[in-house]
Amino acid sequence: MSSSKAGRLLAAALMFLGAISASAVDVVQAQDTPAKELFGGVTLPTRAAPSPYGSYAKGCIAGAVAIPTDGPTWQAMRLSRNRRWGHPQMIALLERFSQDAAQLGWGSGILIGDISQPRGGPMLSGHASHQVGLDADIWFTPKPAQPLTASQREDMPFTSMLDKSKFLTVDKRRWTNVHAQVVVKAASYPQVERVFVNPAIKKKLCETWTGDRAVLGKIRPIYGHDEHFHIRIRCPEGASGCKPQAPVAPGDGCDQSLAWWFTKEPWAAPKKDPNAKPAPKPRATQLDDLPKACSAILHAKGPGSELEATYQPRGGAMPATSASAFVAPAQAIATPFELPAEVPVPPARPSGL
Ligand SMILES: [Zn+2]
Repeated sequence: MSSSKAGRLLAAALMFLGAISASAVDVVQAQDTPAKELFGGVTLPTRAAPSPYGSYAKGCIAGAVAIPTDGPTWQAMRLSRNRRWGHPQMIALLERFSQDAAQLGWGSGILIGDISQPRGGPMLSGHASHQVGLDADIWFTPKPAQPLTASQREDMPFTSMLDKSKFLTVDKRRWTNVHAQVVVKAASYPQVERVFVNPAIKKKLCETWTGDRAVLGKIRPIYGHDEHFHIRIRCPEGASGCKPQAPVAPGDGCDQSLAWWFTKEPWAAPKKDPNAKPAPKPRATQLDDLPKACSAILHAKGPGSELEATYQPRGGAMPATSASAFVAPAQAIATPFELPAEVPVPPARPSGL
């Protein structure tokens, strides 16, 4: 066969295949799209009674509300991520906490990092949890008196509480008694089940906290979390689709579970068997892996606008200085961008995190 004839035959074959396969490919792609792309592409919540489904690290939420970008005692950060959404109980708690933090002398309130996406679910970058609107990150930097501009909220760097020249040690120049009080305050609310901080911060609290030690037990050591802490509330009353986490063990947690973090084990590279075949890439979470309700939530109709689904603070109107609150772009995360992962993949974890 001449090469030109072979070429013509190949071209014809490709045209034929192209004609029959286009729709099939679409179907296959829709089925194979990782859940993080589906949930990461939705800009508004569902209009429904607030209901989390599944677990903190594998779930979604109906009827989430947004925390306003600006409040008297808070500002939301990194608005382009569109992760200001949560269960109304979470948002109400953040409002209350922001007032309490300001009263403790924490600047003029709190800077709020990621809560959840409008319908929860897995994210394109960052977290394993935050999927059901019951987790929120708070910066270890207080809200300054002067409101941050839109670009400052995007670009302002995080400040680590660790002295990076030492192994797992809090930086004495940065960590203050007010930091300790604010973290313990977060843990003190009855609906808060866990507050995640870096092990060095937990150790510092264990060594220095002179107040109620029982509350310390809710403050759990975890990778990362040296530039923000993470508040997790329990499943709301009556939320039957919400999968609760086992309660923390009694006591202050200043025990073996903390000492483990100061061994080599949590920081060692995973042992490699030189003869082992390379492990297959783990399959991204698919819609089918999430609770059944999440598929309906993903496809349900949303409200007409973000404003309709924004929480109305009990604390009243926002200060006049923040009247020009930054408006998140409509296609907030249409083009996923690389963000540093919040938590490195751990080689092993103790139970009860
Ligand atoms: Zn977090």
